[in-house]
Amino acid sequence: MTGFAPFASLDQIKPGNVAIVGVPLDENSSFLSGAALAPPRIRQALHSGETNLCAEDGTDLGTDSRWLDLGDLEFQSRGDAFERIEGVVANLLSQDTRVLALGGDHAITYPILRAYAPKYADLTVLHLDAHPDLYDEFEGSRHSHACPFARIMEEGLVARLVQVGIRTMNPHQREQARRFGVEVVEMRHFQPGLARNLTGPLYVSIDLDVLDPAFAPGVSHHEPGGLSVRQLLQLLQELPGPVIGADIVELNPHRDLVGCTAMVAAKLLKEITSMMLRPASSS
Ligand code: MN
Ligand code: MN
Repeated sequence: MTGFAPFASLDQIKPGNVAIVGVPLDENSSFLSGAALAPPRIRQALHSGETNLCAEDGTDLGTDSRWLDLGDLEFQSRGDAFERIEGVVANLLSQDTRVLALGGDHAITYPILRAYAPKYADLTVLHLDAHPDLYDEFEGSRHSHACPFARIMEEGLVARLVQVGIRTMNPHQREQARRFGVEVVEMRHFQPGLARNLTGPLYVSIDLDVLDPAFAPGVSHHEPGGLSVRQLLQLLQELPGPVIGADIVELNPHRDLVGCTAMVAAKLLKEITSMMLRPASSS
């Protein structure tokens, strides 16, 4: 893996560490490309000096050596990306690390959870998104970023899928949600405190378009009427844990004109990394 230097190497990883992995892939985006450019922009915001590396719980990522940034995955050729993502994540999990992936578009969550499933039989996924991403196929592709959670549920990769922030549910996807037993909290029914009873192990998948475009305009699909950044942070901070994996996806730098969405992603990286550093026993 190469990219932003200096990155950590695989042999530096210890059990219990959090590994950050950039997944610069947007070949499965339906409307706009650009999400593949996101990982370095998130790092740039994180290390810009505009803010410090402290999470709100006091965990200082500036001095904590239990998290490592491995840089971005490289893809050899079009079409091998899913296998590569699954293989790299499986290797990290075999070393008892927790993986935080920086997308890329939302299609990457399917191969990531293929790697998680053999290790965590009772996984609960909290999926934060304006969109349910449950299409059986979209514009001729079953690997579209509109489809990952249909693939995940078909293959029985997770015990429980809880979607929060949804505000584009159409009849097809409503039927898919019913068929797969997805627990959907539509945005119109959102209330604070709803994530408090989610039992671990938890995987958190954050599509940045769950946020209102006023807070996070740098996404491919503007969907008004979403969460505020503070509502999202509060929801995350209330999770009982343990959070054993996560992804932050769908930042599109082409639409992030003053970089504020990259800074939102960097903020989420800090908060989620601090949560993932908590041992399972403390939850
Ligand atoms: Mn999505
Ligand atoms: Mn979305």
